[in-house]
Amino acid sequence: MLKFAVFGNPISHSISPLLHNYAIKEFGIDGFYGRVCLSKTESKFALKNSFEKLGLSGANITLPFKEIGLSICDELSSDAKEIGSVNTIVKRSDEIYGYNTDTSGFFDAAVSMGEFKNALIIGCGGTTKAISYILYKNRVKFDILNRTKRDKKTIELLKCNNFYTWNDKELLDGRYDLVINATSAGLNDEFLPAPKELLELLLKRAKFGFDLIYGKNTPFLQLCLKNSLIAKDGLDMLIGQAVLAFELFFDGKFKKEEIALLMKKAAALRVF
Ligand code: NDP
Repeated sequence: MLKFAVFGNPISHSISPLLHNYAIKEFGIDGFYGRVCLSKTESKFALKNSFEKLGLSGANITLPFKEIGLSICDELSSDAKEIGSVNTIVKRSDEIYGYNTDTSGFFDAAVSMGEFKNALIIGCGGTTKAISYILYKNRVKFDILNRTKRDKKTIELLKCNNFYTWNDKELLDGRYDLVINATSAGLNDEFLPAPKELLELLLKRAKFGFDLIYGKNTPFLQLCLKNSLIAKDGLDMLIGQAVLAFELFFDGKFKKEEIALLMKKAAALRVF
């Protein structure tokens, strides 16, 4: 039997096992995808040991282990190397290969809403690194707005045009086709990711809103809809990154469209 898992903390909420096990079953694969909760202070050795001891063929890695996941890999894809984190690892012979599928998972989901030339990312955490990377690679101009400042080196690495905090006046002239909530505001609370007046101003001029949080009608999503934007939550991104991970686990043996169809069916079974 082939074994896979997702590593994280917390991990009980993850729907990755549901998506992968449904596809595994429907493709008639002798396999199983589980979940592993590591303590938040675990080192890269614990992650690697756990991966090896469980005899896994591949795994997904989520918060807060995406950065240490990178350090257990023998080979890295160019995007994982540049972003500095992995969310998918695959064992081939005796080597571990690392990838970041959040990038394409996000971009495919975003372009499915329509064409955008520029974007504002609200939030500057781990996932913003992946989103910035793929926007830059696709020549989308973008700014970042975060509640707190970042140092010059971090901002340079993100390759944004401008980095703003809530009180920067220049932001009031901002015009963005796409506004992305990449913060955890709204995840376990009812907060907006930035002051309401500022968001309303920006959303009124935008075409699309994207909240990375999924399974919840967040205050940000509600405000996007109130301002007549085309908007979506993070479910398509989650499914997109899982489809790409599944392709990597099975070395392209299954068609992307078929995996996506099955994972969408699996997600629909879930009551959030
Ligand atoms: P991090 O913890 O690395 O970063 C969190 C960011 O949110 C920081 O910039 C932080 O600002 C900001 N923030 C937190 N609370 C608030 C608040 N109340 N108001 C304004 N800003 C706030 O998280 P990630 O980057 O990993 O994840 C960001 C979001 O994306 C999460 O909601 C996560 O669930 C979601 N996600 C979705 C995925 C999907 O597939 N759909 C995949 C990965 C993540 P500060 O720097 O000031 O603290």
